[in-house]
Amino acid sequence: MKQVYFFGNGRANATAKDKNLLGGKGANLAEMTNLGIPVPPGFTISTKICTHYMDTGEYPENLNEEVQKALTEVEEIMRQKFGDPENPLLVSVRSGARQSMPGMMETVLNVGLTSETIPGLIEKSGDERFVYDAYRRLITMYADVVMEKAADIEPKAGNGIREKLSEIMERMKSQQGVENDSELSAENLKELCHLFKIKVVKTLGEEFPEDPHTQLWGGITAVFKSWNGKRAECYREIENIPHHWGTAVTIQAMVFGNIGENCATGVAFTRNPATGENVFFGEWLPNAQGEDVVAGLRTPNPLNRLNKKSDSPNLLSLKDSMPKSYEELDDIQNRLEIHYNDMQDIEFTIQNNQLWMLQTRTGQRNGQAAVRMAVEMLEEGMINEKTAIMRVKPEQLDEIMHPMLDAEAEKQSELLAKGLPAGPGGASGQIVFTADEAEVWHKNGKQVILVRNETSPEDVHGMFASEAILTARGGMTSHAALVARGWGKCCVVGCADIRISAVDKTLATNGTTLMEGDWLTLNGSSGKVYKGQIPLKAVNLKSNTYFQKLMKITDRHRKMGVRTNADSPADAKQAREFGAEGIGLCRTEHMFFDPERISAMREMIVAENEEDRRKAIMKLLPHQREDFYGILKAMSPHPVTIRLLDPPLHEFLPQDEDQILKLAKELNITTAELKARIENLHELNPMLGHRGCRLGISYPEITEMQARAIFEATAQLVQEKQSPLPEVMVPLIGSVEEFTNQKIIINEMAEIVKKETGTQFEYLVGTMIELPRACATADKIAKEAQFFSFGTNDLTQTTFGFSRDDIGGFLPDYLEQKILPVDPFQSIDQEGVGSLVKMGVEKGRTVNSKLKIGICGEHGGDPDSIHFFHKIGLDYVSCSPFRVPIARLAAAQAEVG
Ligand code: PEP
Ligand code: MG
Repeated sequence: MKQVYFFGNGRANATAKDKNLLGGKGANLAEMTNLGIPVPPGFTISTKICTHYMDTGEYPENLNEEVQKALTEVEEIMRQKFGDPENPLLVSVRSGARQSMPGMMETVLNVGLTSETIPGLIEKSGDERFVYDAYRRLITMYADVVMEKAADIEPKAGNGIREKLSEIMERMKSQQGVENDSELSAENLKELCHLFKIKVVKTLGEEFPEDPHTQLWGGITAVFKSWNGKRAECYREIENIPHHWGTAVTIQAMVFGNIGENCATGVAFTRNPATGENVFFGEWLPNAQGEDVVAGLRTPNPLNRLNKKSDSPNLLSLKDSMPKSYEELDDIQNRLEIHYNDMQDIEFTIQNNQLWMLQTRTGQRNGQAAVRMAVEMLEEGMINEKTAIMRVKPEQLDEIMHPMLDAEAEKQSELLAKGLPAGPGGASGQIVFTADEAEVWHKNGKQVILVRNETSPEDVHGMFASEAILTARGGMTSHAALVARGWGKCCVVGCADIRISAVDKTLATNGTTLMEGDWLTLNGSSGKVYKGQIPLKAVNLKSNTYFQKLMKITDRHRKMGVRTNADSPADAKQAREFGAEGIGLCRTEHMFFDPERISAMREMIVAENEEDRRKAIMKLLPHQREDFYGILKAMSPHPVTIRLLDPPLHEFLPQDEDQILKLAKELNITTAELKARIENLHELNPMLGHRGCRLGISYPEITEMQARAIFEATAQLVQEKQSPLPEVMVPLIGSVEEFTNQKIIINEMAEIVKKETGTQFEYLVGTMIELPRACATADKIAKEAQFFSFGTNDLTQTTFGFSRDDIGGFLPDYLEQKILPVDPFQSIDQEGVGSLVKMGVEKGRTVNSKLKIGICGEHGGDPDSIHFFHKIGLDYVSCSPFRVPIARLAAAQAEVG
């Protein structure tokens, strides 16, 4: 088995296709090398070695030999030798997983720098300060990553070796009266390295290793181990990355962006990752190392004039400072984008005017940018329609539909500060200062904004729990910006106007001090920060032409229809604007809650006999007719599936004394009588009680009234030359007999209304399939029903035997103990509930091959579930209005993917 893959000098024995083995970083370095792009030579140890090491705690026998051989090749190209006192080669040791996990694993730089090699490097570089700076960085990283984290030492928060070394450095700076690291002299740094080494032994009980090979293997092992580090595991959970993949390790010759004024380093995107605009976009720092840009300790400069921001017009661009290197970089970024046919996220270093590419990978982007890039790349001829469809994650559409701050209210709000607009949209929340607090407050139902000087990968859990993130430092490519953008969260970074005291838990600007728990609002599209709460406003999708174009493309490619669950004409209209092709579920019970209707409803429920019940029910008829008229009209000529009354009746009954008294008065009975009646209706297990079709069977007058209202509205619309298409749906049947009982009533009522109005109209009668028995007997039911609609909420409830209203009590334990992979009420359990749906479809279609089949449970808006429904041949999914675009895209992806 080959374990080590070399790249350098225009030759690599792997390509971008080898991601699974080499990780994204290693595979792309190999690819760039093959393309003749300047990449420092190096080699990658495959992910298989990571999994082998995780399983056995050992490396394969001949790994050392292969590493040595590859290292020799690097030495030959660089004309340096690893560990050589006169002409030492230094290397970086970096992680690289199949799927990018930015900042989640460890890196060690400057490996090979030892007391013995220091003089040689000083001699070669002629820069003592640079060498000791590199050495103190190595000691810090090595002590933190290899000697502490990889050794499973878990110091208390704020007490790690990195913090301790940083304290020594801060002390040195204040003793020297300087503010920036860069102002420390070579002598200062030399002394610092000495102090660092003493601190390392004292804290960790071991000497910092001065043998280059010990450093190298320590680094390799620590990177492998970091795959199982807490934050990497947490990130994989959130991103659904399998734990068994493992990481590769890339060892690469170091190049330096920090040995003088003709050196620089930067991070860039081939297009703007926040807006999608086709401009080369990025940030750079002169005389710096890559980590300086990402860590956000210095505010970086823009790459070119197009990247300049109005509030920093004087920062020098790379184009103006180093025009030749910029031109070469611009040419490479163009080539890379065309080569990969996608937006790339690149890292580069310029050492003595020589440009080196350190990384290229497909760039993370927010929803707005993803949609714009997909559409524009299609129009540019770079990709085809199918690829464009696959380029946008369905959840990313959520971001486009994200609320923005209400513009008028924003104008009148008190501006607190301004930073960089790293993640668009608006958000309000209560201030918290640590990631842990963010998580706890969020769990307690609070809406929070995480406020930090800068974020680090250790903060991801808290960032995830927050509505938005605000940082005082950092640029558009800082950790906070990248992570927030990946998740589509509102985010403002580099907000230099604010001062944060994590100890006092305060956020201060000129003249204002806010405390933990105070409300803050961010406009992530402009970078503005406001005190207090500002109302949010939905975005206008109509003006987003990229979104509209993408939606049109998805509609050309999907086979499954997308309907909506809506109970009001306003929702129906909204859903149509989002592209819904009908209503898949109109829950009629939602129409009974306004004050006028609820009393008629209550009167009906507590009625002692049929006559009283009919009298009460007929009071509801005009209301229902009006409802159905509005909805059928809003959706005409698309179908509207109207479900007959479904929930347990006691849900409508008055609970408190006042209401009981009022109802008793209205009904002209005593409160004692009414209470007795309510008591009678009480059920121990209402979800399995007198609900669904059981109501219409016990009280056929309910079905009669609802059917009459539907058909009278339909007849009226036909008379008005509209094209209403009602589909009457019976809920919660377990047997065909239940269905036919109701169907007869509905059909009889249709005939009556046709006669009474002298109007002909079309309609269908079908059923929800939401009980296991209905799935098992679907062939019998299909002989009678004109359509099926799977109610996967109740089907999940009755298949698992989990109460849909009480799952919160035990679901967290199930998820934590991996008894369930996800909440089955959110994403369909394909193996269990899904197999019943599949059985229902197959049985139904054996009897009636044209049977129309949809799904209207919550799973209809979940992309993974939509893929499953597509696979088993459903005709449509139905979901809430705001999920309609997501469902359209997911359905198209299911078809073309
Ligand atoms: C269902 O059970 O899946 C369904 C759509 O109906 P409801 O959620 O109203 O019970
Ligand atoms: Mg149901």
